[in-house]
Amino acid sequence: MTNAIYTVPKPINEPVLTYASGTSERDALQTQLKKQAATVTDIPIVINGKEIRTGEKGKVTMPHNHSHVLAEYCLAGEVELKAAANAAMDARDAWSNMPWQHRAAIFLKAADLLAGPWRQTLNAATMLNQSKTAHQAEIDAACELADFLRFNVAFAQEVYQNQPISDAGMWNRMEYRPLSGFVVAVSPFNFTAIGGNLCIAPALMGNTVVWKPATSALLSNYLVYQLLQEAGLPDGVINFVPCRGSDVSKYLLSDPRMAGFHFTGSTAVFNACWKLVGENIANYENYPRLVGETGGKDFIFAHPTADVDALTTAMVRGAFEYQGQKCSAASRAYIPESLWAKVKEGVLAKTAEIKVGEVTDFSNFMGAVIDEAAFKSITGYIDYAKESKDADVLCGGYDGSKGWFVQPTIIQAHVPNFKTMVEEIFGPVLTVFVYPDADFDNAIHSCCTVSPYALTGAIFAQDRQALAYMERALSDAAGNFYINDKPTGAVVGQQPFGGGRASGTNDKAGSVLNLLRWVSPRTIKETFVPPKSVPYPYMQ
Ligand code: NAD
Repeated sequence: MTNAIYTVPKPINEPVLTYASGTSERDALQTQLKKQAATVTDIPIVINGKEIRTGEKGKVTMPHNHSHVLAEYCLAGEVELKAAANAAMDARDAWSNMPWQHRAAIFLKAADLLAGPWRQTLNAATMLNQSKTAHQAEIDAACELADFLRFNVAFAQEVYQNQPISDAGMWNRMEYRPLSGFVVAVSPFNFTAIGGNLCIAPALMGNTVVWKPATSALLSNYLVYQLLQEAGLPDGVINFVPCRGSDVSKYLLSDPRMAGFHFTGSTAVFNACWKLVGENIANYENYPRLVGETGGKDFIFAHPTADVDALTTAMVRGAFEYQGQKCSAASRAYIPESLWAKVKEGVLAKTAEIKVGEVTDFSNFMGAVIDEAAFKSITGYIDYAKESKDADVLCGGYDGSKGWFVQPTIIQAHVPNFKTMVEEIFGPVLTVFVYPDADFDNAIHSCCTVSPYALTGAIFAQDRQALAYMERALSDAAGNFYINDKPTGAVVGQQPFGGGRASGTNDKAGSVLNLLRWVSPRTIKETFVPPKSVPYPYMQ
């Protein structure tokens, strides 16, 4: 008998463990790293809880040691993708009718499993598979994913509690149905937590999902899937289908039952998907919800009153942590001429201290970039800057012989619209433009308009008037805005994440706003004593 209105546990951000020498978490992580490095995991396709293997296979390798194979996987094709869509539709009725507190309990259990016995399994996989340091893996695979699981449950309760008012003689209610169809989740390589959240958010609201993870991050993503299975996720609710991106469009996005697309990745891919949905618009049973968090060209803007030490620390951490492969990574900086000598000295000195190498060596601050395609694209930008008369490369370098290593690179651009000030590079490359102090307004204008993106941005100043002015002048330039802090490191529940313009639909992952995209509310009006004659009083 369900006769109570439940209250979910109050979510608290998962504490970040230190992994300092001598701690038990460091020992446990190192044990897992050794174990996973000595194994080649077999990754199947999973549809309706059944493991499926196809003849088309691929390999997952370590970015920092690219001849080392971590896992082998099977690629889903037309048959499997259509079967996954059918499985999601078949599971929908039972899942959406499960009392929501039971759906929620599965995800709360997953959070506790992750924070406890699964923590180092997920962290080690994220380190080896995506080349994250222990700290970067911890804040992603353990903490952010646990936060998504717990906070989303609290946000779901907030959605369900929201009810309309009722006039005399009636009772108005609102119920929050899942979308009428299945949801396609397509995730990027760079955050294990994002892969999880793209599925969890719609599933929690009663939807069933077909999940296509990035093949370059399959080991960690498959473990997330297994974690959800262990937490009790019923078969068919999330179907795990590693496949080619183009097959998602061909066989899932054009399916008339596709009701939602939850995407994180590059702007170009999201645009192509949106276009395809537009071309198919007359074929869908419902207007599909399209939620995409996409690229960024994130900035740090310094005013002449900025604190140079804080600024240069933010530049280095913001640009180079996780090799600049965060959508929020600082990739352009605006520095006033009056500060440049000190900033240049400080930022180059701090960058020179950075050690790049295998992430299993805990003294390294950076690992490798994800794969050969990324390595070629990033180094292409560096070579372009080296050859250009409009820029100087102040530090940096690369070597892809053993791992896809790119050194932290700083470019000084002499024109504000230099290619590396405008385009997303998605690697450890920071371009600096030094503006004359008297040109402050023009520099702000350029910062706001030179790039099509608007994801994250940071301003540095001691002068409060200047901060207030910059905050207002740059209001359209970023969906996540930081004052005297680096533009990365958003925490679920504290800084809901997402940007506008070419950076996405800004549906704020890790907030109630995102969950609202996965429901189709039904309003129910009940009249207690209905009228029994047609004429209104004014007619008499
Ligand atoms: P990507 O766009 O190359 O790939 C993302 C996913 O899309 C992958 O699973 C890929 O296989 C799939 N895909 C590729 N072609 C497809 C197609 N035609 N149809 C459907 N799916 C297709 O991105 P990536 O390299 O994995 O990740 C880096 C990008 O993600 C960067 O641009 C970064 O800014 C962005 N990102 C944004 C956020 C955010 O919150 N805004 C967060 C993380 C990453």
